[in-house]
Amino acid sequence: MNQKTVLVIEDNHVNMKLVRTLLKIGNYQVLEAIDAETGIEMAKKHRPDLILMDIQLPGIDGFEATSILKSSEDTRYIPIVALTSYAMDGDKKKAEEAGCDGYACKPINTRTFLDKLTPFFQDSTIKDL
Ligand code: MN
Repeated sequence: MNQKTVLVIEDNHVNMKLVRTLLKIGNYQVLEAIDAETGIEMAKKHRPDLILMDIQLPGIDGFEATSILKSSEDTRYIPIVALTSYAMDGDKKKAEEAGCDGYACKPINTRTFLDKLTPFFQDSTIKDL
C-alpha cells in the first residue's frame, strides 16, 4: 500500500506538533505550512491525498483558502478537513459552504482523530468482491 500524504495548514505550533505526531503514528507522510498562501502553493505542487486546514490563519483564512483550492481544477479533488474550534459557533456551516469535505473540532481528540480521517483515504473505485 502506498503511503498517503497529508498537508497540514496550521499556524499554531502546538497544534501542528500534535497533528504531526498523530499522523506519523498513522504512517502518513506529513507536509506542513504555517499560512494559507504557502499551503495553497504546496497543495498545487505536491497534490497531497488530504488537507487539514486550520481556519484562523494569518493572511488568508482557512475558509477562503478552501474556496481557492476547490475552485482550481488542479486541487479541487483533494479532500479538505477543516480544523475548527469548539468555541467558534457557525464554523461548521461556513466550512461546508467553503467546500470542506469534513471538519474536526479542536482541541483534537487524540483517540479518535486518525479514525475520523480514514474514510477520506478510501478508494472511490468499485471493489472487486
Ligand atoms: Mn490558527
